[in-house]
Amino acid sequence: MEITNLTLCELSEKLESGELTSVQATEACLDRIKNTERLNNFVTVCDKLALDSAKKADEARARGAKGKLLGVPIAIKDNISTQGVRTTCASRFLSDYVPPYDATVVKKLKDAGAIVLGKTNMDEFAMGSTNENSAFGAVKNVRDENRVPGGSSGGSANCVAADQAFASLGSDTGGSIRQPASYCGVVGLKPTYSAVSRNGLVAFASSLDQIGVLSKSCDDALVMLEAIVGKDPFDSTSAEYVGKFGALDGNVDGITIGVADEFASCADKGVLQRANEAITALESMGAKIKRVSVKSFDAALAVYYVLSSAEASSNLARFDGVKYGNRAKDYKDVNELYKKSRTEFFGAEVKRRIMLGNYVLSSGYYDAYYLRASKLRTVIKREFDAILSECDCILSPTAPTVAPCFGEQSDPAKVYLSDIYTVPVNICGLPAVSVPFGTSDGLPVGVQLIGKAFGERSILNTGKALEKFAKEIR
Ligand code: GLN
Repeated sequence: MEITNLTLCELSEKLESGELTSVQATEACLDRIKNTERLNNFVTVCDKLALDSAKKADEARARGAKGKLLGVPIAIKDNISTQGVRTTCASRFLSDYVPPYDATVVKKLKDAGAIVLGKTNMDEFAMGSTNENSAFGAVKNVRDENRVPGGSSGGSANCVAADQAFASLGSDTGGSIRQPASYCGVVGLKPTYSAVSRNGLVAFASSLDQIGVLSKSCDDALVMLEAIVGKDPFDSTSAEYVGKFGALDGNVDGITIGVADEFASCADKGVLQRANEAITALESMGAKIKRVSVKSFDAALAVYYVLSSAEASSNLARFDGVKYGNRAKDYKDVNELYKKSRTEFFGAEVKRRIMLGNYVLSSGYYDAYYLRASKLRTVIKREFDAILSECDCILSPTAPTVAPCFGEQSDPAKVYLSDIYTVPVNICGLPAVSVPFGTSDGLPVGVQLIGKAFGERSILNTGKALEKFAKEIR
């Protein structure tokens, strides 16, 4: 048995029964990270800290402590603050930034006994869909090293796919958990907006950002979710979690799944074929398929890029060479200090978003872009809510294509298109999961299930039904 091939739940049972220790599991992950270092999934590996925590977890278990995450090695995206461990957001700006506190999710996972292996690579400040926008180099997709892992949580998805960690945390503003999950062949769960505290997550677009989970199975995702949800006094947008937990049975008999005609227009043939097979599989297990129409689907991508860039331009104003991170040398006055620091340390994509955001917020253009996008956001939300009042979930492809090759998409507007299926979910604040469902040209394909607010368990249960049918891709 290869320890690292186990799922989180399988490892958890073996830790509980005493067949394995946390130190063994942690050492196995650290070895695997070393042996497959070329994938570049980690910005920082915390070998010593991880082994110390693993020893403590084993000691706690010997004293009678229990818990599904006790002693389980996991990874954290590098835009989620970790006390004493640098948190770079894969930016040159924060290359040496060490936060003085743990994000609420990190604290919760540590309290549950999870072992933090390290911080995962990503697109700078979570802006991107390929992980090519990282100051620490690209991540190579473990399924085909000539291809991108997706983004922005590319390292988080790829480290789980590569069996370097049993699960990881990512962040999802417009698809950054689900799209790389689809490209790498793992499960990616974006929870309901407000279900998980954003305290300690470096903000990109605060009304859209959510922390979520990448894992090897839907069962594993639910275990991780249960550990991180809940109201947090440090995030005023967080809420008491009112969703359900409890073991998944994969029973979809009698549930209604919405499928929109509009979804068929923008995906590749191979991807659409898999999504259609998923629909047939669910139908054969007793689910009812309801044809629905999402008229606002076309507008969602533009709405997302206007709103997210507007919020980003404001959130990223704090990186000025004074408060956090690096500072340019040789400046005459404070304006030059700001200008030189921002010019030197931000990457091209981040600069593009800041410029776009300032443009859509500027007087003269505010009404035409920002205000209009805000109004359309309400229209999109109403449309999804109406569909979900008649369906248990909505099914679509997660991404229009399989993982592209490096450099294949040099036009930013084309890269933005890869988010077409995922952004409406963030605009509406809904939960969604991407579940691996077979391959196209030998590369993983993900199917997205969008749920009602706090309906994470329900979409994961439908995901579990799909897992039973999915082709062997691991
Ligand atoms: N790819 C999208 C973007 O670049 C989504 C990013 C995200 O979800 N963090 O904005």
